[in-house]
Amino acid sequence: WDLGAPKVDPLEPENVFMFLTGPLPGLGAPCMRSVIAFKSPLTLTYCDSYHGGFLGAEIKYAGYDGIVIHGRADSPVYLYIEDDRVEVRDAAHLWGLDTEQVYHALYSEIGGDRFEIACIGPAGENLVRFALVDCSYHRQSGRGGGGAVMGSKNLKAIVVRGTHRLRVAEPERFRAAVRQAYADLETAPGALDFRRYATLSGIVDDSEKGILPTFNYQQASFEHAANLLGVVYEERIWLRNAACMGCSIACSKMGAIRRGKHKGTICDNVEFETTGTMGSNLGFTKAEDLQYASHLCDILGLDTMSTGVTIAFATEAYKRGILSRDDLDGIELDWGTADAVHTMIKKIARREGIGDLLAEGVKRVSERLGGEALKIAMHTKGLETPGYEPRGMPGHALGYATGDRGGDHERSYMVHYEARGALWQGRPVDPFAREGKAEIQIHTQNITAGNDTLILCHFANEVGIETAIKMLNAATGFNLTEEDLFTVGERVWNITRLFNLREGFTRADDDLPVRVKEEPLPDPRVKGQRISQKDLDDMLDDYYRLRGWDENGVPTEEKLAALGIAARPDRG
Ligand code: SF4
Repeated sequence: WDLGAPKVDPLEPENVFMFLTGPLPGLGAPCMRSVIAFKSPLTLTYCDSYHGGFLGAEIKYAGYDGIVIHGRADSPVYLYIEDDRVEVRDAAHLWGLDTEQVYHALYSEIGGDRFEIACIGPAGENLVRFALVDCSYHRQSGRGGGGAVMGSKNLKAIVVRGTHRLRVAEPERFRAAVRQAYADLETAPGALDFRRYATLSGIVDDSEKGILPTFNYQQASFEHAANLLGVVYEERIWLRNAACMGCSIACSKMGAIRRGKHKGTICDNVEFETTGTMGSNLGFTKAEDLQYASHLCDILGLDTMSTGVTIAFATEAYKRGILSRDDLDGIELDWGTADAVHTMIKKIARREGIGDLLAEGVKRVSERLGGEALKIAMHTKGLETPGYEPRGMPGHALGYATGDRGGDHERSYMVHYEARGALWQGRPVDPFAREGKAEIQIHTQNITAGNDTLILCHFANEVGIETAIKMLNAATGFNLTEEDLFTVGERVWNITRLFNLREGFTRADDDLPVRVKEEPLPDPRVKGQRISQKDLDDMLDDYYRLRGWDENGVPTEEKLAALGIAARPDRG
């Protein structure tokens, strides 16, 4: 809010780009991540995007809470930080390299792998609006186009090494809280499931529940879902687990494609979201094909989710005659055509031919094509829709509509309540009801945002909030309660709302894709479900009222005063 000027073009030097760490990384607390923050070139909203790995801890060890990058270098550079030694170094020799090549080049240049690295691939250099930032060898900040912002600054990489010791306010209490956190994780069934199957154990279940995006969200179940389960990767691709710093879950995998034309490709694991947006959504029937598509995105520096949804859009547009074969440079896109998708991924990263158009993301492409294209464009505020079909989950859909960085599953996750039977305040939730969903959505958004300030991995939910607060208080000397963390989350939602209002967003932008509003789902459990404009308006009215915002979604003076927030969009 303070560092960035209003309405700045995200790809101009005035946009501010930050690597931030939170209070706990590097101290031995489990499952700590770090975050990048910037104004998004994809959505033009505020955006933060989290990554695992080791970078946040290393920034702390170097003596910093964060790195704030302004301006633009005249030519490609990388930022070298070794404690107090900070240098902007020439990166001409790195420009054009994919992310794996950057790691290898920098490791040999700076001497071994004692440094933590974050870098962009060719997609970031080419200002693809959904380019990612790759950290600690394939832990990605994927959403919102942070890689393009780095590319716009001619910043290919940052390299960090720190040697300082970190201290906590109350060491004994901190150690006890950390022990409790590890104990929580060791026995939690969810953690064990992540360790064995990463995020890929629920694909068939989601398909049966009618929440798995398929064929550009034309349906919500996929007959080949079982081919994309974790157990298939376990048997055919994964070789060992890998973990972010101090994480005993170790949900990440390293593996190798061992059959087919991409045999021999060393890779990490496909995530659930990649499966929902790029697997079933593109009709992939073989794990190896999806694995290779994901690998291409990793090394070229593309968000798999936006890439999958964008290519799914192009596929449907081609099948409906909105795009011609010539438009697609002769590529025969169809559901399940892995080679065509792999080629398209490379074209997007290089902005080559049709890739130059698709690199703009679904919103801009559909607006350029107009007409029927607008009806099949799956995005909210420009962010391509996540790997959960929302029509059978109206509360979850409300989260997409109100998402501060666009429609998003990471900001609030109502899938547990609306598709998996979790109780809300001891009561079952009617999955298809509209009434009462705003209250659950707000609670979930606030608690998630509060939790994100820690910055605890979302897969580590089994670390109870009570234990997380004990770690925070012992590390910092604060005396916060769960209620305080909830209020922190509420402040976050109000401040990001003010940011987006200042950028010109209005109630009309709290919208859902046309398909979600107008096309009923065909799948058995959710047959006939859609979220009409009236449904959305009713839920938004509830949501704004319960948030203490006016009917246009603007936080009231009373609400801001109660939260201790001074700025209003009309005051700056
Ligand atoms: S659960 Fe997975 S993503 Fe989360 S911190 Fe652990 S290894 Fe990293």
